[in-house]
Amino acid sequence: MSRPRPRSAQSASAKGPDPPGVLDWGDGRHWSSTALPCRYCDTPTHLRDSKSKPAHKACAEQALATQAADAAAAYQKEALTP
Ligand SMILES: [Zn+2]
Repeated sequence: MSRPRPRSAQSASAKGPDPPGVLDWGDGRHWSSTALPCRYCDTPTHLRDSKSKPAHKACAEQALATQAADAAAAYQKEALTP
């Protein structure tokens, strides 16, 4: 007698996703011919974030990292509070 075996998710490991926290802005949507002050550091940039706001990729990545850290800290604080 053979028992049915659950299907393992083998295909999931085949794909190599980008490391977390690194944005892929190779897309043309993240580029504008007009330089505007970055929303984070006020230095003019041609780059646009996912909301079409002027932002350097590095600045956006930094902001995301800070955001993630803040969210994690808030979650931990909440989890510790009865
Ligand atoms: Zn910037």
